[in-house]
Order: sequence, then structure tokens, then C-alpha cells
Amino acid sequence: MQQSITRKEILSVVVPVFNEKEVLPEFHRRISAVAAEMAERFDFEILYVNDGSSDGSSALLGQMQSADPAVTLLDLSRNFGKEAALTAGLDHAAGDAVVVIDADLQDPPELIPELVAKWGEGFDVVYARREQRDGEKALKKLMASLFYRLMQTIGPVKIPRDTGDFRLLSRRAVESLSRLREHHRFMKGLFAWIGHPQTAVFYKRDARFAGTTKWNYKGLWNLAIEGITSYTVAPLKAATYLGFATATGAFVYGSIIILKTLLFGIDVPGYASLMVVLLFVGGAQLLAIGIIGEYLGRMFNETKNRPLYLLNQYFPCEAAADTSRTLPRRKAS
Ligand code: UDP
Ligand code: MG
Repeated sequence: MQQSITRKEILSVVVPVFNEKEVLPEFHRRISAVAAEMAERFDFEILYVNDGSSDGSSALLGQMQSADPAVTLLDLSRNFGKEAALTAGLDHAAGDAVVVIDADLQDPPELIPELVAKWGEGFDVVYARREQRDGEKALKKLMASLFYRLMQTIGPVKIPRDTGDFRLLSRRAVESLSRLREHHRFMKGLFAWIGHPQTAVFYKRDARFAGTTKWNYKGLWNLAIEGITSYTVAPLKAATYLGFATATGAFVYGSIIILKTLLFGIDVPGYASLMVVLLFVGGAQLLAIGIIGEYLGRMFNETKNRPLYLLNQYFPCEAAADTSRTLPRRKAS
């Protein structure tokens, strides 16, 4: 068998899928069109991570895998959440570069050539930064912007604003990322933490093509708490300062009372001030304990050291199955 000396590079596209039956055919059509356009330079691996879908997406993905040699199917044993699904996809992606994209077409696959161009200029992480969000509520936008601003001020490394998970990672960045195995995964924080040369490409974020978002306000709130507590210990510091401020206040107020008693004698009424101080100190203590509890709970989860996800099945696409083309990689789960 004859082999050409210059091989085409593999470009993996990792797509987490959780109940996306309505959008999958359209998504696949659009990503395949992009793949066809770039076929001269790349073999595409379209890696669908089925994150425990229950709406028939699994069967659909199975059909797509047998019909299209570019499709890799990774079937998780249950719903592990988007962050774990992404991790599973990155662990199994065979590409020289890997693009992470949502299945709901909010991220336009047509942007991939631009991401690749920046990668060609030597950047390891090329994130797509949105100029505008269509089809999302004003409150959600406001909360997202406040969250980014907060993370910007308290976090250890800067997280680029207005970016989702849509981005391109070089093989080196994928390897770096695969070394971070924490369970409480705030992907945007992890992407930023690994460093390497990073740059942005701008785009307009569309509304969902079909189906509904898996997020509600409770979910977003939890994500924000998760993001903050898994990414920074700033709340613990805040608790320390709150305790310090309370103690200082108590000292000042105590001195005033003592002075007053010495100068003007014992003054029995004082129920109101007593209650206020008592309630405030009690509240501050509970808050601080609660913050410690959040971190303790996370430590509890991390110490169990469970795998981040479990697989039912892995069907590599043609390019990924050809082991002579893929480098041996870290395999951790
Ligand atoms: N997703 C997933 N597991 C989940 C929830 C979501 O794999 O538990 C996938 C989903 O199929 C989609 C992507 O993550 O491809 C983004 O989900 P969604 O559009 O609901 O989030 P949003 O765009 O509103 O942040
Ligand atoms: Mg979406």
C-alpha cells in the first residue's frame, strides 16, 4: 500500500449532545459543509459526545456514525453534564487541533476556518468571542455580564469576557487541559488557566436553532457558585475580612459602652442594641460557616477521586481509528 509522505492533518470537532434530536441533522449538514470546504487540508473528525440523551438522539447518532466515516461517537453511561461531556470529548479527540462547539447552532460552524487561520499563526487557544446575543433574555445577559465582571476581579487569571466554550485548541493545549482532572470543572476558568498563546475571533451569537436550552435560572445560579468556588478562594478571604470588620465594630462599640457606664453609671435599658449586635454577629458567623461548608463539600467530592465520566461505547471515525496517524496520548478519565 502506498502512503503519501505529507499526510493531511486531522481536525476534531467535539460536540456535546444532550437531547438535541431536532437540531442534530441540521447541525451535521452545516458542519459537513464546512468539512467539505476544508477537505483539501484536513480530515475532519466530528466527535459527538452523547451525554445520556433520552429523546432518541442516541439512535440518531448511531445512524449518523454508520452513515458517515467522519463521525466519531462517544456514548457516556449517563448524563454527566456538559463540562464532563466536553472533557470526555477532548480526551478522545484524535485531531492535531480540536474545536469545541455546541450542537444547538448558537455557535456558527462557518467560523471554524477563521479559528483555524489563527491557529496557523501560532495560537494555541483561539476562542470565539460574541459581539451580540440573540434570543436570550435581558436578565440572563445582565447576570452573565455581572458574573464575568466579578470573576475578572476576584479570579487568579483573567477569563476573556463574552466567550462560551466555542473555541479551537491546539494539540498542546488539549494535552495541558487533560492534566486538570478536578471534578468541579469550570471550563472557562480551566481554558484560561492553562495559558499558552491565546487570541479571540469575533462573531455574532445566534438564537438556538431548535429545541430548548437546558439551563434555567437555578442552574445558572449553581453554575455561578460552582464557577466561583472551584476557581477562587476569594469568598474565604471575604469571610475573614467580614469577621475582622465585625470584631473591630464590636471592640469600638464595647469601649463606648464601658466608658458610658463609668461616666454615667449603669444604664439597664439596652435591649434593642443588644439584639442588633447579637443578630448581626450570629448572622456573620453563619455566613462564614456556610462559605467554609461550600469549600468543604467540594473537597469531599474531590477526595473521592472518581472518574469524571464513564463510557458505554466509543466508535472512532476512520481517521481516528488509523493508529498510524494519531500520536499516543495520555488516556485518563
Ligand atoms: N449539554 C450537554 N449536557 C448537559 C447539558 C447540555 O452535553 O447536561 C450540551 C447541549 O446538548 C449543547 C451544549 O451542551 O450542545 C449547550 O447546551 P445549551 O444550549 O442548553 O446551553 P446554553 O447555550 O443555553 O448555555
Ligand atoms: Mg445553547
